[in-house]
Amino acid sequence: MRIGNGFDLHRLEPGRPFMLGGVRLDWHSGPIGHSDGDVLLHALTDALLGAAGMGDIGEWFPPTDEAYRDADSAKLLAKVLEAIGSQGWRIENIDTTIMLEQPKLKDAKPLIRARLAELAALPPDCISVKAKTMEGLGAIGRSEAVAAWVNVLLARE
Ligand code: MG
Repeated sequence: MRIGNGFDLHRLEPGRPFMLGGVRLDWHSGPIGHSDGDVLLHALTDALLGAAGMGDIGEWFPPTDEAYRDADSAKLLAKVLEAIGSQGWRIENIDTTIMLEQPKLKDAKPLIRARLAELAALPPDCISVKAKTMEGLGAIGRSEAVAAWVNVLLARE
């Protein structure tokens, strides 16, 4: 078995689509990024690469590469899932924490969990989506940024 962790943070800007865990949130601002800025999928991708000892998301998909401008992070995740699968790894579970002041994620959490289950081809009970505010403190607390932590456990025979 192998454990991995991933972290990501993006700045928020008015008028940007807000992608989070492969789900589009209905909100007036969203993350800035070379890709679609989906912090949860980026942290998950990094956690998978970390567990498998296969580098990091910046090495796989360089932000200087025009091929990844406004890229769908679900497609980047799919490439990494294929690569770890070809090494014989399967995912035991995914545990995530999103740090975001607004919007509240109460209604979005089940949708994000279902979407992660779909993307990772796992039953939903293998996936946890938790959300925290920063109590108004710091950049996230001022709604200037969104961040995510992800832990994964991989196993192979
Ligand atoms: Mg990122």
